[in-house]
Amino acid sequence: MSKKPKTNISQENINEARSMLKITISRYFPLKRKQHRLVGLCPFHTEEPHYLSFNISDKRPDEWICYACKRRGDAIDFVSQFMKISYEKAIKEIA
Ligand SMILES: [Zn+2]
Repeated sequence: MSKKPKTNISQENINEARSMLKITISRYFPLKRKQHRLVGLCPFHTEEPHYLSFNISDKRPDEWICYACKRRGDAIDFVSQFMKISYEKAIKEIA
């Protein structure tokens, strides 16, 4: 039931899509620099605290986390959740 669908997308393409996190997210909403991280308005929840709960740390530039709703992931997770599309389609969307 929870098996990932078979994909013909290579690991290389997946890694490339993941490395595009900041650029990808900037297409959907603005990120602001705050010391050693980028912050923004999380699009996945509306409850407080909403403002600047969405974070990308310079230490882990390929991952995002929202401290309010606890969602996290990479660029592919973001696009697939935000656009409600499959993992595979999300990779193509980023490319
Ligand atoms: Zn959130």
